[in-house]
Formats: sequence, structure tokens, C-alpha cells
Amino acid sequence: MKKTISIVGGGASALFLASALNTDKYVVSVFEKNSALGRKFLVAGDGGLNLTHSESECNFILNYTPHYFLSEAFKLYSNKDFIAWLNGLDIPTFIGTSGRVFPQKGIKPIDVLNAIEKKINSNRVQIYFKHEWKGFSDRNELLFNTKEKIKRVKSDITIFCLGGSSWPVTGSKGDWVKLFEEKNIQVNTFKSSNCSFKIIWPNDLIKHVEGKPLKNISVTCNNKTISGELVITAFGIEGSGVYPLSPQIRQELELHNEAKIKIDLKPLLTINEIVKRISILNPKKTYTENLSEKLNLNKTQLILIKHYLSKEEFFDAEFVAHKIKNFEFVISSLGPLEDAISTVGGISLNEIAYNFELKKLKNSFVLGEMIDYDAPTGGYLLQSCFSMANYLANYLNSKE
Ligand SMILES: Cc1cc2nc3c(=O)[nH]c(=O)nc-3n(C[C@H](O)[C@H](O)[C@H](O)COP(=O)(O)OP(=O)(O)OC[C@H]3O[C@@H](n4cnc5c(N)ncnc54)[C@H](O)[C@@H]3O)c2cc1C
Repeated sequence: MKKTISIVGGGASALFLASALNTDKYVVSVFEKNSALGRKFLVAGDGGLNLTHSESECNFILNYTPHYFLSEAFKLYSNKDFIAWLNGLDIPTFIGTSGRVFPQKGIKPIDVLNAIEKKINSNRVQIYFKHEWKGFSDRNELLFNTKEKIKRVKSDITIFCLGGSSWPVTGSKGDWVKLFEEKNIQVNTFKSSNCSFKIIWPNDLIKHVEGKPLKNISVTCNNKTISGELVITAFGIEGSGVYPLSPQIRQELELHNEAKIKIDLKPLLTINEIVKRISILNPKKTYTENLSEKLNLNKTQLILIKHYLSKEEFFDAEFVAHKIKNFEFVISSLGPLEDAISTVGGISLNEIAYNFELKKLKNSFVLGEMIDYDAPTGGYLLQSCFSMANYLANYLNSKE
């Protein structure tokens, strides 16, 4: 008789897993509380579905914090494998200027989701919608809240793919924590990652710069520097130029209740080069126009420089150059969980074996963002879900 596998949760990790498990060997069912699969996968596609990154395989894994638990899974199923798999589903991809990988123009996130669902359906997997997992019975059956009743499901193998705790509207609310704690499994507190960061802006500054981007800058926290762009908001800052610093900022906040960051508005110029450029001025232009032209500074950058320098300092090339390279800001908290792109926290890595099996719950596995690890935006989150799911599918398919 075939063994049964229950996949609980129907997001990114579950999608791949359901398409890859061997249904000649297992009866596979997916239980999802929503009435559709992959809601967060679709949200991720708003503004471009960044499926993975084109970075070299040896550097790729270093983006994860920590990365040891994912190394084997990524070795077995890298970004190149994922891209080849998508191409096999008739989803051609392209590499954007930042190295990020997207479906080719004209292919919408829903098309990608539909292609994966088609593969799942051809794999004879049974999908149960409106099934919310509520815990275990005394006999270790899975309990699901369905419209009509509490349903009990006995399965030989259970794979939890319940997601993290951001964007609750997609179904990933992290409200499963106590169900694992009841089994003595350590679940770490959820915290925002790839999120906004709170900076208390002076009132007379923010009204001029709210919503404005700072492009081609670099941001440093705790000796790690990231290049990119960010947006100044009433709350603080957000954007690709600061998301990858989430682990450093979070750590500083935990240790010191604040995190100091340094923004360099001109990372490609040295202080000396800046001074040189603005030491000879065009007399037909104002000093501000000269700065703007010679250093290619936009209005927002000029407002920042003026705000943080006294009048005398503003007219001193050395001060201007130093400020441009060294804007220091204090982050006082992380943005709210519900708005974050991802979360850390969840099932502690101490609780899982090399194959993602829960050490305290035999034949039960956990995958994806419900595990406590961190990854930056840029396609690294989805890649990790697919690599883990592939690893587990391989493991189970080859099990005697
Ligand atoms: C705005 C936004 C943009 C993003 N952009 C990108 C991007 O461009 N690239 C990238 O790589 N990543 C991106 N991500 C992150 C990526 O979408 C997630 O990391 C990924 O979806 C996590 O997959 P998962 O399978 O772990 O969980 P999820 O996709 O969150 O799926 C979990 C599923 O479990 C279900 N569930 C939860 N509890 C229960 C229960 N009790 N019973 C039954 N079902 C349950 C949920 O309804 C959900 O369907 C983005 C995320 C957001 C919010």
C-alpha cells in the first residue's frame, strides 16, 4: 500500500514539493486554508516577480543568515536548476540589470502560478482548500477546521509549509506557533525582515523629502555595506539599499536599542575627488547649482546636505565632501511585521535535522519561511523555498 503524505499550507514551498513528490510511491494531499494556492507568491509578483538571482553558485549561499542548513539543498538545486525547471514549464526568464531573475516580459505572476499548478495537477496530487490546520489529536492525527466540521487526517508523513508572519492577508499569519510549542518545539519570536526601518526625521526636513528616492547610494551598518537605492518615508527608510542590512540592523537594535547607519550619497567618489570637483566654481551659477551640476546631486540630496550642515559648513568644500560620504542616521525600530516582505523567527534551526525533519516529531518536516533564517530580497527567499522543497522531495522519493 502507498504511504500518505500531507502537505500543510499551500504557498511557494508547497507548490514545488507537490509537483516533485513521486505519486507512484505516495498518495499526496495539500491542505490550504485559503480557497487558492500561492497567495503570497502572487503578492511577491506585484511590481515584478523576482524568482531568483543570477549570482554565482558559491556566492549565492552566503546571502543566507545562517547558511549552513541550506548548503546541501542549494548544491542539489541551485538558481540554475530553478531557471531550467521554469523554462521546462514554458516560463522563459531574463536577468535584470541588478542580476535578479524575472519571468520574461508579458508573463504575469498568475501565469507562473498556473504553470506550476498545472504540473501539480498532472502529478495527481489532491488539493483541499478551506482546510485550516488546528493542531494534533490525541492520536497524532492532523486536525483541520473545514466549513462543515473538524476533519481528522492520519498521514504517514506530514510536511508543514505554513510560511512566516508578514502580509497576513495572504494567509501567512504565524498563528501556528502554539501548536508546535505544545509539542515542546522551540519557536522563536517573529521579527520583520526586508522591512521599513524607523528614523525620527526632523519635521522641517521630512515635509520636503517624504516619498523621495535616494539612488546609487551605499548604506553601511556594522561594517557591512550595501549599494542600491532607498526611499525616504514619514516612518523612516525602506528599499533595496537597506533591506539586505536587516540582520545587522536587527542585531544592533537587540544589543543597543538603536542601530546606527551611514549613508554615502556618492560611493563612487572619494572625499578628495568631491573636494576637487567643487573647488573651481562656475561664477555664472549659484553655489547650489554648482554643487548640483559638478556632483550630479538631485534636489533631495541637496535638501539633506543643507539641512545637516550649518551655513558656514555648506560653503566649505571639505565639510560638504565629508557630509556627502557620511550621513549618519539612527534607526530606532523595525517596521511592523504585517508590512514586512519577510520575517525571521519561527521554528528554531536547533529543532530540525539535515533533511528538515523535526527532531521531536518523527516523520514530520518543516519547509520555507516558517523556519528561523534570514534572506535578503532579490529572489533569495523563493529560491530557498524551492531548494528546500526539492531536497526533501528527493529524500522522500529515494527512501526505501
Ligand atoms: C510584498 C512581498 C514581496 C515579495 N517579493 C519577493 C520576491 O520578489 N522574491 C522572492 O524571492 N520572495 C519574495 N517575497 C517572499 C516570498 O513570497 C516568501 O518568502 C515565500 O512565499 C515563502 O513561501 P512559504 O512556502 O514558506 O510560505 P507562504 O508562501 O507564505 O505560504 C504559506 C501558506 O500556508 C498557508 N497556511 C498558513 N497557516 C495555515 C494553516 N493553519 N492551515 C492551512 N494552511 C495554512 C497560508 O495560507 C499560505 O498559503 C515577497 C513577499 C512579500 C510579502
